[in-house]
Amino acid sequence: MRELQGWIFDLDGTLTLTQHDFPAIRRELGVPAEADILTYMAALPDSERLAMKAQLDQIELRLAAGVQAAPGAVELIRSLHGRGLRLGILTRNLQAVAQSTLAHLGVLDCFAAEDVLGREEAAPKPHPEGIQLLLKRWRLLPAQAVMVGDFRFDLEAGRAAGARTCLVHADNQWPALADWHVADCRHLLAQC
Ligand SMILES: [Mg+2]
Repeated sequence: MRELQGWIFDLDGTLTLTQHDFPAIRRELGVPAEADILTYMAALPDSERLAMKAQLDQIELRLAAGVQAAPGAVELIRSLHGRGLRLGILTRNLQAVAQSTLAHLGVLDCFAAEDVLGREEAAPKPHPEGIQLLLKRWRLLPAQAVMVGDFRFDLEAGRAAGARTCLVHADNQWPALADWHVADCRHLLAQC
């Protein structure tokens, strides 16, 4: 882990405490309980898709205002930044929401503006495009970078890009997909 040069983080539930009550968001948007919101939205006719996108943007901006740092997240980002390592964000959220969240946590200065990728800058995870974009920009090989996240999509995106993967979650739910597993960012900081 100490040899890694690039660190790519999921935001919601990884650097922040989980704010998104996805069942409630699905109900508010009228998305079926089992559906992936972005996939469902992408398949709608134009007018409906644009209306739902505007509604989802509003929900995310509302949630961003009440965000809290996950345990150890700020210390971890500050430590990695202090070592001169490359840091990026890959989120299914909006870039503007991600930037305002990072500012709220007090770590926005640790990230180059173009290294914060939202769902409009790259195909949403589990697609690896966002990781590939960052690796190209950073001129790193996949094995020199890690994708850190709390959900299967984060790990699948990392695997698909050929990067290392780290699950941040109380339970190791996807051991086959995670090179490392830690309970939270505080434990991750102790290891890296
Ligand atoms: Mg997450």
